[in-house]
Amino acid sequence: MDTINVTRSSMPPFEEYVEQIRPLWESRWLTNSGAFHEELKANLKEKMGVSELLLYSNGHLALEAAFSQFEKGSEVITTPFTYVSTTLSIIRAGLVPVFCDIEPTFYTMDPEKIEALITPKTVAIAPVHVYGNMCDCVRIEEIAKQHGLKVIYDAAHAFGVTYHGIDAGAWGDMSMISFHATKVFNTIEGGCLCLSDPELAERLKTWKHFGVSHDDIMVMEGTNAKLTEFAAAMGLCNLRHLSEQIGLRKKAAERYRQRLSGVKGLVLCPEQESTVSNYAYLPVRFIEGEFGKSREAVLAALNRDDIFARRYFHPLTSDTPLCKENYEIQETPIAKEVSSQILCLPMFADLTEEMVDRICDVVLRCSD
Ligand SMILES: *Cc1c(COP(=O)(O)O)cnc(C)c1O
Repeated sequence: MDTINVTRSSMPPFEEYVEQIRPLWESRWLTNSGAFHEELKANLKEKMGVSELLLYSNGHLALEAAFSQFEKGSEVITTPFTYVSTTLSIIRAGLVPVFCDIEPTFYTMDPEKIEALITPKTVAIAPVHVYGNMCDCVRIEEIAKQHGLKVIYDAAHAFGVTYHGIDAGAWGDMSMISFHATKVFNTIEGGCLCLSDPELAERLKTWKHFGVSHDDIMVMEGTNAKLTEFAAAMGLCNLRHLSEQIGLRKKAAERYRQRLSGVKGLVLCPEQESTVSNYAYLPVRFIEGEFGKSREAVLAALNRDDIFARRYFHPLTSDTPLCKENYEIQETPIAKEVSSQILCLPMFADLTEEMVDRICDVVLRCSD
C-alpha cells in the first residue's frame, strides 16, 4: 500500500506556477522586494487586516526579527510545548526563555500561570497558537497591558484562522506566521511578521537587509532574511487555492472526528468557540491505562502500515540540553504530560476519506 506521510505540501497546478514565474525571465529581478514580493505583501495585508506586514525568508527569522528588538538579557515568558523555533529565536536574540505551563484542552499557554513568572526583567510574553488553536488572546493581552509587556505570538500554525472575527495575524504587538512547505499555506520556505507600529516595521525591514540603511551604512546587527521572487510567486499561486485547500482539510478532519470520537482513552481537540479553524494538524492524545496501547505502540503500528505520524511536540523545548544547561527551567506538569501522550496523525489537503479510514483502522486496532 502507498505510504502516507504526516504531511504533504500544497502546490498549485504546474502550469499555473510556470505562467506565474515567466515574467522573471524578462525582468531579471529575482529578490530584494521584487514585484511578486510586493504583490504578495499587499494581498496578505488585505486578507489579514493588518497595517504593517514584513515578509521573511522563513518564519523562524521573522521571529528572530521580533525578538531582536529587546535589550539582551531580558526575560520572555513562553511555552515549552512548541516547535524548537520559538525557544531558539528567543535565545538567539540574547533573551532568556521563562517557561509557562499550558492548559489541557487546546494546549496553549495558560493565562492564569503567567503572572507568577513576571519579574522586573520580563519584557514580553510569547505564546503559541499550537495546531492553529488560538490562545486566550484577550486574557493574555490584558495581563500584558497591566504589566507593560509586549505580546509576540508564534502564529506559525494559524494562517487563515480567525478568532472573534479577527485574523490570527492581527492579535498582539507582533505575530509571526510561517509559510513553510509543511504549513497550510506555503511559499516553499517563507514567513511573515504582522505588526501595527510603522517605525518598528521600518527597523525590522532594515534588519532583514543586513541591518543596512538606505545609504548602505550598517546601522544595526541585522541579517539576510529576504523572501525571493520564486517563493513569492509560489505564495501568489497558493493563495488563490487557499479556501479550497482548507475545505479539503476540513473534510478530512471531519472524517477523523467521525471515526475517532468517543473512543475510550483517545482525546481529540474539541472545536474552539469563536474560531474559524484552518485544520492545520490532527493532534490526538492517548491516555495510558485508558486506551489499549501506548502512544509509542500506536506510532509503531502506524509505521508498520507505512503511515507516518509525528510526536509533535516531544520533547518539550525546555527538556533539551540547550535549555537545561543554560537556564533555570520552570516546572510545567501539564505540558510534560501532554507531550508524552500526543501524536499528530497525517493531515493535508489531498488526504482522502479512504486514507483517513486506513489510518483510523490501525489506530482503532490499538484501542484494546
Ligand atoms: C514551522 C514553525 C516555526 C518556524 O517556521 P519556519 O517557517 O519553518 O521557519 C516556528 N514555530 C512553530 C510553532 C512552527 O511550527
